[in-house]
Amino acid sequence: MLAQKLGIIRQEINKSIENSHLRASPPQILAASKGQGVETIEKAILAGITLFGENRVQEAYEKWPAIQQAHPAVKLHLIGPLQTNKVKQALGLFDCIQTLDRPRLAEEIKRVWGVGCGVSGDKPQKLNPDTRLFIQVNTGEEQQKAGVFPRDADDFIRYCKNELKLPVTGLMCIPPAGDVPAPHFALLRQIATSHGLNELSMGMSGDYAVAARMGSTIVRIGTKLFGERP
Ligand SMILES: *Cc1c(COP(=O)(O)O)cnc(C)c1O
Repeated sequence: MLAQKLGIIRQEINKSIENSHLRASPPQILAASKGQGVETIEKAILAGITLFGENRVQEAYEKWPAIQQAHPAVKLHLIGPLQTNKVKQALGLFDCIQTLDRPRLAEEIKRVWGVGCGVSGDKPQKLNPDTRLFIQVNTGEEQQKAGVFPRDADDFIRYCKNELKLPVTGLMCIPPAGDVPAPHFALLRQIATSHGLNELSMGMSGDYAVAARMGSTIVRIGTKLFGERP
């Protein structure tokens, strides 16, 4: 079932990028596994998925340490908002935080990294030196949504990269529901290009084919893989 859905998604992506003048390589497929149990995640790994995203640190904490131990090659990204008091936990668990969106959070990540130690449960946990960060851009300038506004993105990216020396390697966006997504993807790509950032996390179940054609390197897919969330 999952393998079949994954095959269809890959096919649609390949078809979509065939006609793209931007790039030839298909994006990685990140399975958005919020609300899914460990058993379902294990099935997805068997079907060939090697990258997952979770929205909540607490939920990821309950599910992922055991999975990570059993499948060291599988990567886990945080795709939901991060509170500053969860940074230690997050840096001990995730390979990438896609939702860096404010100076206070960047400063706390810098501080915890400097100490070199996060926590797993209540145990100290050596930090993964390869953890990367994406900056979330609120391309639709929605009040209720996380992410820096496009007009503030240049300054924030420079602050994180140049002043704090954080390993920012990409950008992420969630276009407003009901908007045509292409202009949002184009804007995200333009900002990334101007800062030499190579990773673009854009595209979800409803628009991954468009995102792939527009240069996405990671599409985040939940419903289309797992069905409606429990
Ligand atoms: C849940 C979620 C997704 C996946 O959404 P679907 O529409 O179910 O594919 C992608 N990105 C983020 C940030 C999410 O929270």
